Amino acid sequence: MARPPAVLSIDFECFTHLPAYRNARGKTDQRDVGLDVVDSLLTLFEDHDAAATFFVVSEIAERHPERIVRIADTSHEIASHTHRHRHLSALDERERRDELATSRIVLEDTTGERVTGFRAPSFDTASDHFSMLAAAGYEYDASVAPCQSIPGWYGGEHNVDRPCPATRLDPDAPAGIAELPVGVMPRLRLPLTGTWLRFFGPRYTILGMRLLARRGIAPVLYVHPWELVDLPPVAGVPKRVYWHTGAWMRRALRRILEQPFEFVTARTVVEDATAFDAKGGSRAGDTTASIDDGTGGR
Ligand SMILES: [Zn+2]
Repeated sequence: MARPPAVLSIDFECFTHLPAYRNARGKTDQRDVGLDVVDSLLTLFEDHDAAATFFVVSEIAERHPERIVRIADTSHEIASHTHRHRHLSALDERERRDELATSRIVLEDTTGERVTGFRAPSFDTASDHFSMLAAAGYEYDASVAPCQSIPGWYGGEHNVDRPCPATRLDPDAPAGIAELPVGVMPRLRLPLTGTWLRFFGPRYTILGMRLLARRGIAPVLYVHPWELVDLPPVAGVPKRVYWHTGAWMRRALRRILEQPFEFVTARTVVEDATAFDAKGGSRAGDTTASIDDGTGGR
């Protein structure tokens, strides 16, 4: 039997891009903490025949274009995680437009390939998000964590569990923009990865992946390069940021990749869902997640 699809996305940012670092009273003089993990990540993915999507903070591509080219030269997808990793809702309209447009231009110039996907830092977006994305030339968004409301974090806003047209989330969204929500644990409705993987362990994440696959949903996971390295101590950065980073997280990621899933890019899942929808969802025996227009399948 074919392995069900899953998406492993890498929010490609440095430790110093974290809001928790920017808001801390301390500083580190180590630059680009996390980026050195690229080569071992690419080897790990190759060992497991996995394709991943790298949502890249594009100012990194300006400073280290060779790293981004190395990723793009494999089977992986390069997508955008803004230019500077600022919370979009804290920016004015001109700044938001600039974050989205500059990022796509920089990443396309660096890789020579089209960039169609986007994820907002901290899943934080403004009310004009989808029209901004369309104007900047993106085709899909991956900035929705359809989890329960977590005070001080995010969540509680959307109730979609699989790829869908963005109009499902915002009636004013332009046609042609799709949403790919990140995976959350059924019923519990907490994300399967990020802090939740580091707190609850890989068994929790793997159980969630299985439960979603059983529902015909491709689980969408996300990890950060800085989670995979030993972080420098910085006064004021909360302990939760450090918890189970480094070797623990590298082992957890390996265990997830060993599971019987086919790890494909985010764009692949969005395109498969769109094609499925265009055919009226009639492919016999296909368990791939479809674009859910809200009329069924839940
Ligand atoms: Zn981020």
